[in-house]
Amino acid sequence: MRTLNLPTVNRSREIERIVNGMPTSDGAGVKLTRVLTHDLQRRLDPFLMLDAFRSDNADDYIAGFPDHPHRGFETVTYMLAGRMRHRDNAGNEGLLQNGGVQWMTAGRGIVHSELPEQEDGLMEGFQLWVNLPGKTKMTAPGYRDIPAADIPEFALAGGGALKLIAGKLGSEEGAVTRPDTEPLYLDLTIPAGGVYAVAIPAGHNAFVYVYRGALTAGDLARPVRDKQMGVLNNEGDGVSLRAAEETRLILVAGKPLREPIAQWGPFVMNSREEIEQAVDDFHNGRF
Ligand code: MN
Repeated sequence: MRTLNLPTVNRSREIERIVNGMPTSDGAGVKLTRVLTHDLQRRLDPFLMLDAFRSDNADDYIAGFPDHPHRGFETVTYMLAGRMRHRDNAGNEGLLQNGGVQWMTAGRGIVHSELPEQEDGLMEGFQLWVNLPGKTKMTAPGYRDIPAADIPEFALAGGGALKLIAGKLGSEEGAVTRPDTEPLYLDLTIPAGGVYAVAIPAGHNAFVYVYRGALTAGDLARPVRDKQMGVLNNEGDGVSLRAAEETRLILVAGKPLREPIAQWGPFVMNSREEIEQAVDDFHNGRF
């Protein structure tokens, strides 16, 4: 594994808010933790939602997500453990598993299912919704399966590790780059006692979500713990992360679109009229 020298950060962003994920269920009864909710959509523009799931009880995930539509944004599913089968009405099919990512552009409309392909064992991962700008909300749907082996992975000095799912860090490029929202999505492991700084472009909204251990960032002594999100403020050229115990997290940042957000369930557009059109199109088989 190549070693990555993280670019220097001169001033760390601070944690402005710690958010507890809310236990909920979705699909046909999948238990999950909703981390990024409606009230944070403007603050964390262009990100619309983050769900985290982690269970070794099949009852929590076996029902999966049967056929359902999306329009107007992208869904990014990162599977840490487990197997999930994707099928959609554009004819795509793929198996998401063990460290792989699925990047789906719903665009003008897609109907898909996400169903577990295991009857026991651990299912763990995340689904992030990334908004599309008005000019590409009605683009053709697209779908990419990115196996774990295609995600750049680096060793960090001091024993840490980093997977660059999307975006750029210094001269390194992630598995995915996207226009307009320029998302940065990385999975970071910090060893006990480790300190790492990650550069984040000025003006991009950013957060961390901890899924093992606990970390502190910037000057705030209060830690962000397992199943908590830390919303980062926008002052500074990156963030300095410290962990007393081995800690795993995702760090997500993106360029805000600053457009109106109109959401009705799985449709995210700019106006109420466009939402009504989406509902009408879906019910009349135009997806
Ligand atoms: Mn879906």
